[in-house]
Amino acid sequence: MSIPALQKWRVGSYIMRQRAAGRERYPLVLMLEPLFRCNLACAGCGKIDYPEDILDQRLPLADCLAAVDECGAPVVSIAGGEPLLHKEIGGIVSGIVARKKFVYLCTNGLLLEKRIDLFKPSPYFVWSIHLDGDQEMHDRSVCQPGVYVRAVNAIRLAKQRGFRVNINCTLFNDADAKRVADFFDTVKGLGVDGITVSPGYAYERAPDQQHFLNRTTTKTLFRDILRRGDGGKRWSFSQSGLFLDFLAGNQTYACTPWGNPTRTVFGWQRPCYLLGEGYAATFRELMEETEWDRYGTGNYEKCADCMVHSGFEATAVNDTVRRPLVAANVALRGVKTDGAMAPELPLHGQRPAQYVFSKHVEHKLIEIRKAKAGA
Ligand code: SF4
Repeated sequence: MSIPALQKWRVGSYIMRQRAAGRERYPLVLMLEPLFRCNLACAGCGKIDYPEDILDQRLPLADCLAAVDECGAPVVSIAGGEPLLHKEIGGIVSGIVARKKFVYLCTNGLLLEKRIDLFKPSPYFVWSIHLDGDQEMHDRSVCQPGVYVRAVNAIRLAKQRGFRVNINCTLFNDADAKRVADFFDTVKGLGVDGITVSPGYAYERAPDQQHFLNRTTTKTLFRDILRRGDGGKRWSFSQSGLFLDFLAGNQTYACTPWGNPTRTVFGWQRPCYLLGEGYAATFRELMEETEWDRYGTGNYEKCADCMVHSGFEATAVNDTVRRPLVAANVALRGVKTDGAMAPELPLHGQRPAQYVFSKHVEHKLIEIRKAKAGA
């Protein structure tokens, strides 16, 4: 694992404090989406299919920092959309770093060279650059040739300037295990500090619905990849070993959607980063009034195939604290890539999917029109 000792210590002591206070639910990573606008249109993206008026919305600096304070999570992942399109992104990052929170700035890298002087290297700051595989895989994933080369150049530049740099890799059902393993070797050669890898979530609004992984193919794919890297020990992942163990089918986990609460221009998103089924006005309202039992694998049809890090990493981290010897065994021996898999959560009681996207979009558009009329 590539998570620095300072971060492990701070996150570990935060979890201990929450447990000592008897808190059942607490956030680990704030997912901050200050805008939905992007300079790419990836086939598997479920975040950019909004009317122009919504894509033009920005969470201002003050609202971003208020969300960080309100939530209190020790880690903030800034996503989007493309965060480097936000005019106040430098102030957002420096404001979060000043609070001694660990910031992951997710970007496709296209604007990194232009914006890099807005940022300073810090143990609290990490570039998280989107790369879904080698040149052919990534350019296909983002539906534009040349993006891989620009992202790799961005990685090199950020490393030269002394920044911590991770890659953020989403895999789909056309991923070939050997190519992914070779790609991980390539990014290791680039000096990347950590790899975040996850199966893609089957966003209902994503243009390409053919290439999302189901649970069985996810587990088989991750076993095949990790087997080629000594159970994953050959690479530095910025994720817990138990999350990788879960992806390889060795753990039966329910998700922890409140572990990665999400703040967007709509408000606090229910129930998680992947599903926008409703919005709360405050973080407290999100935590206290969301009907959490209605979501998760086995509870809701839209959750059936989800194994995404934003839902399950918090489960794995909590399990690491609860069962440190099991986690240490995975760290020492690597992820098990053969033998029987852990049982699945039963799906027979799940409630059917509800489709509420248009309703939320309509409400937001009315709100925007009213604000414009008032102005
Ligand atoms: S399984 Fe959990 S994290 Fe995944 S979509 Fe459902 S509620 Fe969100």
